[in-house]
Amino acid sequence: TSAAGLSNFGDGAHLSVTDYSNHGDFVWSGELLPRATRTWPSVKSFRFDQQAICNAALDGRDTVVVMPTGGGKSLCYQLPAILDRGMTLVISPLISLSYDQCLHLREAGVSCEMMSSAVSREEASEILRRTKGAPKVGDRQEDIKVLFVTPERVAKSKTLISALQASYGANRLSRIVVDEAHCCSQMGHDFRPDYKQLSKLRKLWPTVPIMALSATLGPKVLEDVRQILGLGPMTPFKSARPGETVYFSAPLHRANLHYSVVAKDSSAPRAAQQVVDWILERHEAHSGIVYCLSRKDSETMSKNLSELSEGRIRASWYHADLDDASKMRIHERWRSGKVHVVCATIAFGMGIDLGRVRYVIHASPSKSLDGYLQESGRAGRDGKDSDCVLFYRPQDTLRIAGLVTGDRNGIEKLDSMVNYAQSYKCRKVLFGKYFRDSYGTSDLCGVCDNCIQPPEVADVTVESWQLLTALEEMYEEGGRLTLADLCNVARGLGNGQYTVVERKTASGKRKRRASQSKGRSGVFSVEDIGGKVSLSKENAERVAMHLCSNFWMAYEYNATAYSVNVYVKPGPLASRLTRLDLERVRAGEADARIEVALAGKNSPSKPRKAGESGAPRHEITKAIRGRFKSQKEGGG
Ligand code: ADP
Ligand code: MG
Ligand code: ZN
Repeated sequence: TSAAGLSNFGDGAHLSVTDYSNHGDFVWSGELLPRATRTWPSVKSFRFDQQAICNAALDGRDTVVVMPTGGGKSLCYQLPAILDRGMTLVISPLISLSYDQCLHLREAGVSCEMMSSAVSREEASEILRRTKGAPKVGDRQEDIKVLFVTPERVAKSKTLISALQASYGANRLSRIVVDEAHCCSQMGHDFRPDYKQLSKLRKLWPTVPIMALSATLGPKVLEDVRQILGLGPMTPFKSARPGETVYFSAPLHRANLHYSVVAKDSSAPRAAQQVVDWILERHEAHSGIVYCLSRKDSETMSKNLSELSEGRIRASWYHADLDDASKMRIHERWRSGKVHVVCATIAFGMGIDLGRVRYVIHASPSKSLDGYLQESGRAGRDGKDSDCVLFYRPQDTLRIAGLVTGDRNGIEKLDSMVNYAQSYKCRKVLFGKYFRDSYGTSDLCGVCDNCIQPPEVADVTVESWQLLTALEEMYEEGGRLTLADLCNVARGLGNGQYTVVERKTASGKRKRRASQSKGRSGVFSVEDIGGKVSLSKENAERVAMHLCSNFWMAYEYNATAYSVNVYVKPGPLASRLTRLDLERVRAGEADARIEVALAGKNSPSKPRKAGESGAPRHEITKAIRGRFKSQKEGGG
């Protein structure tokens, strides 16, 4: 069921295998680049497979486009929309996105509208009238070339659907674009129920080609999206057979993004000061984003940035509770540079098109590494060096663990984020391991924190044994411990006291040890683990967190009226270590060796101003390669 003979160009027949990377082959081939340059003067040549994608789209094919954030996905549907006759319907999730794209196109003289909750009722009905292709009133009126709508409208607005139906009936609906297509899938990191409704597009208008775009579509999510949108089997663009969906994927890695993780102070005011210092040292007056976990956090962070910098940092906040007009105003002030930094939840971002974002700070981890890659990827879209930094402390993870309990694979996804945050390996290599071949080569990046200054890595197998053994003992006794409680007790604090609760066993019986049945607390003696764990609070928590995100420990939840509290319990791997006694672990007889990069052992890496890196890039890379090699060989 390949789509459409509606195109100006494609015959829609696709009787043979087509190679869309053969750029001279098509009727429109001579027109593509000149038209692109006329519309966007900064476009002097095509990136990635933009041209091949336009070829396939103009030939009336269904297409799926995976490109990193900032890679240039918009051009892939906007250029065909401009060249083709009829109207292109663009479904994209956030108001800020539609607004941005719409401005760009209008500036380029392309008739473009958006249907969002920000347009008035009168404007909306005028747009619908034009969508139907109703006769002109007034003087001149161009047909709409590009119409942006939210997935919510498509899911819920009958008037929109009937206007589109009329447009389809008049042979004017030339293409449907689904931006941020990963939102269709519950397997993805940002599922939105309205997106699932998009399955009706193919049913309603079977001959209209569909283009789905995203920055992150792993194999499972891709298959899910394909089925929801009703697309045919995927095929690479060099050998597309009839009925197949033409698939493009560009490597996700972007060399201009410099990733790093900074150990975040445990006191909230000092952590805010850290962020202020970081910004003032490197990026005063540059444009940036600070991602925060909650709406309240965003507001607090924004106030802190302004106050602690005495107004040198002009900050504002953005989250889903703001009305559309405020959202637009903040976005516009940030675009124009009146506001330097927006402190925001992830509601701020999708499709944000500001090239000169010099930094993206995460004040706490994302819910998954997919999410982190996408959010941090809003930096440096102009190709210039930019910083992506995560302010991390293990405690923040537990807050998130409480939020994602209901999500499919929520903890698994969170583990990927923690392992990134705590790793001593090159950030690019870590992304590469997670996203596999879609990410890029396996070379070290040479510009991330771990490349520039490899952290000290400690063998913490003994300390892990201590923590796990302590946890097993207390858990058995009915203990309910947060990660911090566990670390405190194992470090010999608080006289070893811990809380005891009744816990249901697997068989549903309430279980509580007789020895504990009278009191509400138990007492643990560090003698049982060969003495106190000799790590700082911060590092003990790093080790415990490492154990949590690698199956040595697991989370346990207790919901209260206001929140979900997160506790720790022994995980499926725990006994692998704890079945040995301490002497054997000390003698290195454990079959697992647990290594963690400790914080606070290294002096913090020297601040680097964007664009300056001290020595030529290739020399740094060489030096680092050498260092890594000798470390590996030496460390065994
Ligand atoms: P995304 O893939 O995240 O949707 P966009 O389409 O918003 O990315 O593009 C990011 C930026 O790259 C935009 O400013 C756009 O104008 C620019 N861009 C896209 N393609 C090219 C090109 N071929 N040459 C130069 N700039 C380009
Ligand atoms: Mg985009
Ligand atoms: Zn690196």
